[in-house]
Amino acid sequence: MAYRVTLIPGDGIGPEVSEATQRVLDAAGVGIEWDVRQAGMNALESQGDVLPEATLESIRQNRIGLKGPMTTPIGTGFRSVNVGLRQALGLYANLRPGKSMDGVQSTFKDIDLVIVRENLEGMYSGVEFDTGTVDAAEVIAAINAHSKKKVDPTAAISIKIITDEKSRQIVKYAFEYARANNRKKVTAVHKANIMKFSDGLFLRVAQEVAAEYPDIEFNDRIIDNMCMQLMQKPQEYDVLVMPNLYGDIVSDLVAGMVGGLGVAPSGNIGPDSAVFEPIHGSAPSHAGKNEANPTAMILSGALMLRHLGEQAAAERVEAAVAGVIRDGDDVTYDLREDRDPGKAATTTRMTDAIIERL
Ligand code: NAD
Repeated sequence: MAYRVTLIPGDGIGPEVSEATQRVLDAAGVGIEWDVRQAGMNALESQGDVLPEATLESIRQNRIGLKGPMTTPIGTGFRSVNVGLRQALGLYANLRPGKSMDGVQSTFKDIDLVIVRENLEGMYSGVEFDTGTVDAAEVIAAINAHSKKKVDPTAAISIKIITDEKSRQIVKYAFEYARANNRKKVTAVHKANIMKFSDGLFLRVAQEVAAEYPDIEFNDRIIDNMCMQLMQKPQEYDVLVMPNLYGDIVSDLVAGMVGGLGVAPSGNIGPDSAVFEPIHGSAPSHAGKNEANPTAMILSGALMLRHLGEQAAAERVEAAVAGVIRDGDDVTYDLREDRDPGKAATTTRMTDAIIERL
């Protein structure tokens, strides 16, 4: 076997779309040995932890993981599997391609964008102080001692952190991705006109990194203008790289432009390992009925193949999925205009049709 991959099937529709993905990737002939591990509700029940150390260790060893969706346990005291994975493995880049497919209902046509979001710092650094607390008062007093602009003593505070190191890492990743996947342009997205120091640093680093990649065109856009341009002329853009909060919002915006949850893959990339997953959740009302759309998970598998350098196999999988959706005969309920599960293909049938086209 060429690769050993940690597979976390998840729960809800997770095991069904995971099985579909295993079958498609096996049929693509890359040679994957699956190391199946648990996380989420299943792991909580069997091992008392939503993210067991054995699962993390498997990803560390194999350096690559494919993860199905999982239900978030309600109530306090559980760590989030996604945040836990990101932090434990240092998965600094969130990769979210958005590509139009004929047969998927959407207002937009011919979209082919890749969003690269910084995953660990920015507005989501987790450095926060609640209104009225002693810690907040001390932080505010320290800020007011140094800043001309004074902070109200009753304010709640979230600190935005941008570092040279993490900015350089994410922008380099965007350029390397562009180079490896024959992309022509990288756009850095920011608000450096207002946040002159934090976003200013991000932009300056992006410009420095861009100079190391003369074969790839580079420009930058202010986030609000970027959103308008994505609505007006999305075809002018290719790979977009940005800090955490902007990336969180823009990646969902682009997912909506290409047809939403059922077809949107993603990857979380770190220095030593990477984990790929569909952006949708566990869709509990469809679980166990063999009617969930496997596309997002299969396309996450294709993204994983790209990460492994298996570009040709990835392209074959993506083309097979696109072909089945374009024809429209063997698609799940959510890809049909009538959304009638009675008339739609099952998960298994859609998967068979994809495999037949490989
Ligand atoms: P969801 O993505 O599970 O479902 C939203 C809607 O989309 C539902 O109508 C669902 O039926 C439909 N849908 C989603 N994926 C589909 C697919 N592949 N095929 C057909 N229909 C699909 O979001 P939710 O209902 O807000 O969340 C359900 C659970 O999943 C929650 O516990 C949530 O916390 C969790 N969740 C997990 C992840 C993850 O593991 N990465 C992501 C989002 C939500």
